[in-house]
Amino acid sequence: MSTPIRVTVWNEFRHEKRNDKVKAVYPDGMHAVIAQALKAAGGMTVRTATLDEPEHGLTPEVLAETDVLTWWGHTAHGDVKDEVVKRVQERVLQGMGLIVLHSGHHSKVFKALMGTTGNLRWREAGEKERIWTVSPGHPIAQGVGEYFELAHEEMYGEQFDVPQPDELVFLSWFQGGEVFRSGACWTRGRGRIFYFRPGHETYPTFRDANVQRVIANGVRWAAPHAQQAYNCLHVKEAMEPIPAQT
Ligand code: ZN
Repeated sequence: MSTPIRVTVWNEFRHEKRNDKVKAVYPDGMHAVIAQALKAAGGMTVRTATLDEPEHGLTPEVLAETDVLTWWGHTAHGDVKDEVVKRVQERVLQGMGLIVLHSGHHSKVFKALMGTTGNLRWREAGEKERIWTVSPGHPIAQGVGEYFELAHEEMYGEQFDVPQPDELVFLSWFQGGEVFRSGACWTRGRGRIFYFRPGHETYPTFRDANVQRVIANGVRWAAPHAQQAYNCLHVKEAMEPIPAQT
């Protein structure tokens, strides 16, 4: 049996404490629901971390033991300490996978890794979202089918200010007419990054079986494989000048 993937599910965890509507959907926080789904998917050990823990729960020790980090933030991006942002960014460059969920498009971590604003159009009107699979052979689309729907979601529309994705897995259509690149992959350094759009806090999106499947697939895709882990050990040496051939 292969070694389990070590996942840290990070959540801002503010809306759930302050807003009764959100609390009703996620009484223990959306991180609890995401972590439960990943545990049920199998092959992973899962821990959670939240903004108000010391160092946001992302100490160097925790990150060193994390193969894949998932990130949900919205109302308090500015409260995330730059020191922790830098730490996460460096770990991604070394090979840690990162799954950025929904409003995480404006997180400091995502913007630092993308180098763009992450801006997009949005509207909160409880519209239907149809998520089309545009790369059916991609590991993140495994078991998802041609498309799936969420009855009510916040709308995100193009133009989404990110670098052209290395791979586009999902494209969303909304009832109001907009489309959005809702499942996109990038590589930064040795790390793989997957952005997945759905997950507004007032809807039970993270309880949806398809959404849970995509996040689990994303974690498996983003996990560093053996060669990456090997390369990681050699990053330091690679920064030294190589001796001349004689
Ligand atoms: Zn939202």
